[in-house]
Amino acid sequence: MSGANTRVIAAHVLDAVLHRGRSLKAELGSALPKLPDPRDRALVEAAVMAALREHGRYADTLAQWMSRPPGARDGLLRSLIYIGLAQLDAMKLPAHAAVDATVEAARLSGRAHQAGLVNALLRRALREPLPPARVDAAWPEWLANRIRAAWPDDADKIFATSSEPPPMWLRVNRQRIPRALYAERLAEVGIDHHLSDVLEDAIRLDTPIPVTALPGFEEGQVSVQDGSAQRLVDALEGLPADAKVLDACAAPGGKAAHIAERHPDTRQLAIDVDERRVRRMQEGFARLGLDIATGVADATSPKSIPAEGGFDAIVIDAPCSATGIVRRQPDILLHRRADDVDALIGLQIRLLEASWSMLKPGGTLLYATCSILPEENTRNVADFIARHADARLQPLDARFGRDTGHGHQRLPGEDGTDGFFYARIDKQA
Ligand code: SAM
Repeated sequence: MSGANTRVIAAHVLDAVLHRGRSLKAELGSALPKLPDPRDRALVEAAVMAALREHGRYADTLAQWMSRPPGARDGLLRSLIYIGLAQLDAMKLPAHAAVDATVEAARLSGRAHQAGLVNALLRRALREPLPPARVDAAWPEWLANRIRAAWPDDADKIFATSSEPPPMWLRVNRQRIPRALYAERLAEVGIDHHLSDVLEDAIRLDTPIPVTALPGFEEGQVSVQDGSAQRLVDALEGLPADAKVLDACAAPGGKAAHIAERHPDTRQLAIDVDERRVRRMQEGFARLGLDIATGVADATSPKSIPAEGGFDAIVIDAPCSATGIVRRQPDILLHRRADDVDALIGLQIRLLEASWSMLKPGGTLLYATCSILPEENTRNVADFIARHADARLQPLDARFGRDTGHGHQRLPGEDGTDGFFYARIDKQA
């Protein structure tokens, strides 16, 4: 496919996400499979991600450089310009090829009369640095305000880190292969990597690659999972070997699989309310050779869950604002509304309450989110502890991030990992 065609496709995906409320995952999911060449797929994905991470800054740039920047009705032109800027600015592609392909893309998408404008803007971006933009330019104001209120000393860093491309974290399935041996397999095929000093199963790749390029992926030797997500299993230290475990919000199954890899003799039930995601989870367990019972069920409704005798441990990796993983899913900032967060908090509370009723006395409840908003995290846990006389907060250590008083918080980018929250609550025997 020509370079110009890939830019047209990237601009269409960006336009749908940026201006028509579509989800990034869904749009990429339908656009990428139509591109036979993996290099084209990689370019489209990288350009869209870069433009989404920086769109606030590019909007500021157009506002300064143009007397009348393209408006909402010309979303495709605006998107194409952003794709052009992303190639020069964030992706650092060879300048002339990137400009030519993007200008040609304007012609291909029926905007021959605007090709000159695209050319002029991109050439200006080659000559001049883009004007400095507000560090929170991509964040809706209400959410930026909440982040500033919650993390006054860290907010600017959070905004900056959230616009940087994250590393790729691998989790080695040590049921199948020792980590050092897997690292040798990576070295054999020339994949640069770092063994984590602090996460036992983790290997970091600074340059992400397609999973299909990972040796042993199909044979279940390795999975892709952020370092903060891999940390969760460490909060289950001391779990009895044959414990009965419920992962209440399990799909697509990353944490349930990790628990089974670490604690192979536990009897685990992994449920999720979303049937399609449960199917994906089952495929993942099959690939990894893990024997984990699965089910489609609503975890706020214990009667729908086979819980006879109760569980020794329950993990709630709760649906949340996902404010800790903006660097992986930059469209969160476009789609999230303040009302959604309130609704999510209500769901999180119902999940906590229902899980408590299924937990054996002496059992452990692990509550986690990929949010950095205290109202979904530490406040939910504090309120929960206040409501339940038999609930005891178990302190975690500094590996889980800073102590918030009621749980531990990692902020995005710390140790190269995503933002994440963990709280362990034990039920008095
Ligand atoms: N633990 C998963 C992993 O590590 O791969 C990620 C879980 S994701 C953060 C949250 C999940 O909660 C989503 O898959 C969503 O479908 C599920 N969910 C939302 N409401 C639920 C409910 N009432 N009962 C069970 N699952 C629910």
